[in-house]
Amino acid sequence: MPLDERQRAMLREMGVPVWAPLQREDTAVARVGPDASVVSTTVSTAAASATAESAARRPGDPFAAESVLRQDDPSRCAGSAAPPAGAEAPPRVGAAPGETQEASELDWPALRQAVAGCRACGLCESRRQTVFGVGHPQAHWMVVGEAPGEQEDLRGEPFVGPAGRLLDQMLRAIGVTRRESAAEGEPALSPSQQAYIANTLKCRPPGNRNPDPAELARCEPFLVRQIQLVQPRLILAMGRFAVQALLRTQEPIGRLRGRVHRYQGVPLIVTYHPAYLLRNLPDKAKAWDDLCLAMQTMENAPGG
Ligand code: URA
Repeated sequence: MPLDERQRAMLREMGVPVWAPLQREDTAVARVGPDASVVSTTVSTAAASATAESAARRPGDPFAAESVLRQDDPSRCAGSAAPPAGAEAPPRVGAAPGETQEASELDWPALRQAVAGCRACGLCESRRQTVFGVGHPQAHWMVVGEAPGEQEDLRGEPFVGPAGRLLDQMLRAIGVTRRESAAEGEPALSPSQQAYIANTLKCRPPGNRNPDPAELARCEPFLVRQIQLVQPRLILAMGRFAVQALLRTQEPIGRLRGRVHRYQGVPLIVTYHPAYLLRNLPDKAKAWDDLCLAMQTMENAPGG
């Protein structure tokens, strides 16, 4: 299938080489997840392809920097920092999230405070600061990643290192931003153009090692509450740890992507982690398919 100029622009935005057409294959139907609340709906990548085509039929190039998020552009896609560790009370490992209150009862300020003061696992000893989340609190999109890295630990914001730059490009390719408000002179942003970004872990594992199961379990109530508060219309789960946390499955990403899952009734799309994509450039094309599926799912969602 030849690519037209708009599709090429989309792929360039994500850093996908445009010298070959994207592979399109129908994906086999399968149901995953031991958790009864997780129901998978089969959507073939051919459907994602159709989305790319329908997107491509729209006039204009929404990926030019100045026009990506303009609401009046018919071609656009539908669709506190915590105190540094040194300033905190002496670390005490073992307190539960929210300490005196369940995380599920906390509002945004209380949740942020609970995360900032968390001593539930050993990561509190080595972190510079906790990394809570970023984005509009009522964004329609929610991105769930893994854990802060060095840059995130320094700045207190998720996805601000190299993987974060790729994530921003990926979001931009579908007309979505982490920004909470428009820049001066720009039209206002709508929640359908906004993503809330959070990680499964709120503290950096030393040396960027993998999160361990006990850390993930201790931190999970924070993420669950963030999802409850945002009430996103779609969740993009990026990478193994986000997927395992949300879908309760050990299946590899490659077997889970290409169809719509559900988390507490919210459509969930599985895709590769941006850090993985930086090391495995050919898989960016698959990630683009995943984003197409996400856009299509969002368009079909009630009120989407
Ligand atoms: N990788 C993640 O999963 N999250 C971040 O915040 C940064 C890198």
